[in-house]
Amino acid sequence: MTDQNRPAGGADEAQADGQDTAPTNGAASSLGSMKINFSSDQGTGATTPAGGGIAILSDPGGAAPVTGGSALVDSEDGRTDAPVLIIGSGPAGLTAAIYAARANLEPIVLAGSAPGGQLMLTSEIENYPGFPDGIDGPDLMARFREQAERFGSRIVDVDVDRVDFSNRPFRAWARGIEYTGQAVIVATGASALWLNIESEQRLRGRGVSACATCDGFFFRDREIAVVGGGDSAMEEANYLTRFASKIHLIHRRDGFRASKIMLDRTMNHPKIEIHTNTEIAEVLGEAKVEGLRLRDTRDGSEQDLPMEGLFIAIGHRPNTDAFRDWLDVDEKGYLVAHEHTASRIEGVFIAGDVDDHRYRQAVTAAGEGCRAALDAEKWLEAQGVGEVVTTAAVS
Ligand code: NAP
Repeated sequence: MTDQNRPAGGADEAQADGQDTAPTNGAASSLGSMKINFSSDQGTGATTPAGGGIAILSDPGGAAPVTGGSALVDSEDGRTDAPVLIIGSGPAGLTAAIYAARANLEPIVLAGSAPGGQLMLTSEIENYPGFPDGIDGPDLMARFREQAERFGSRIVDVDVDRVDFSNRPFRAWARGIEYTGQAVIVATGASALWLNIESEQRLRGRGVSACATCDGFFFRDREIAVVGGGDSAMEEANYLTRFASKIHLIHRRDGFRASKIMLDRTMNHPKIEIHTNTEIAEVLGEAKVEGLRLRDTRDGSEQDLPMEGLFIAIGHRPNTDAFRDWLDVDEKGYLVAHEHTASRIEGVFIAGDVDDHRYRQAVTAAGEGCRAALDAEKWLEAQGVGEVVTTAAVS
């Protein structure tokens, strides 16, 4: 419901007052199983159900060679070979597509089966520049997508299963189809980790959020909780003290991973109460968060606390599985860019949350997408498209 964030889960809407009609879960889950045309009439978004700007096609047409699984969204030009292949369709991937397309590089975007990235889980974004009245996450991503398609990007909503970056053209496979590119931009983002209890998932966007920067504003003078014992949880809890009347920090052990300075700041804050050896057994409430059932991890005893919001801050997981054989990852599993957006493999570039665990904002991801596209364009120019290079996989 609020600000931009991305995020691989980091951008869920939190709904303090129950008034929003956020698409959040519905939008996200529907994307994986419906045929959707982001590029169709978006209207204003204000009256569009299910996230605005998303049209469900009654006849998908232009079907791609899908072998089971969910439906495909395809801009229908059928190309599988492009000067630039972009993997991922959050703000980074689609901004890269806009820039690459405007440079006549006719990008193919392998957008994922739930395209749009974490903003698809956010109903209202208030800190993306250019939208003084805010904009729904799905609406914003529909606009990104329309803009990318307008200049000739081909966008295919499929998950990449594996890649081969040993030679140019670089290769990527999705649902049995091989796509090739002389350059590749990896912009697959990261996903927030969730507790994965039923009530948490049901109330995502209804008071459960994974992004305080995005949603904290909506919890002014409310009593809320943050779960986690690392720096993220401390940071979120401290940030939320600007808004909430009281914050319960819930951690499952009595030892913390957080750095001392951040832990001290949290412990000493008058608005924060810390509950150690405590886990969340259930998020209470039907249409919105109304409380938490807390369980003592030592004796199993339970108590209910009234609460209007829950922020999950137990870490993020970058979406790098398909690339680990080829690209360097850091100790946290994020891809490593070596010079600007360049990876260890010449011609493969990296953008967005997949290499950024620090900022994780839509606007910074979009900026990285722009940088990666400009870097790819310059590199292609310098190398000459079609030149063959060979690179060994990471051993
Ligand atoms: P983290 O350090 O891995 O901490 C995750 C926390 O969540 C741990 O306390 C863990 O509990 C808890 N947790 C994990 N799964 C859980 C579950 N299913 N149920 C309940 N609790 C669960 O992750 P992070 O806090 O996101 O930090 C990631 C990295 O980013 C760290 O290196 C951190 O220093 C860095 N970071 C830095 C800053 C900063 O400097 N400003 C801010 C944010 C993050 P256990 O301890 O029991 O495993």
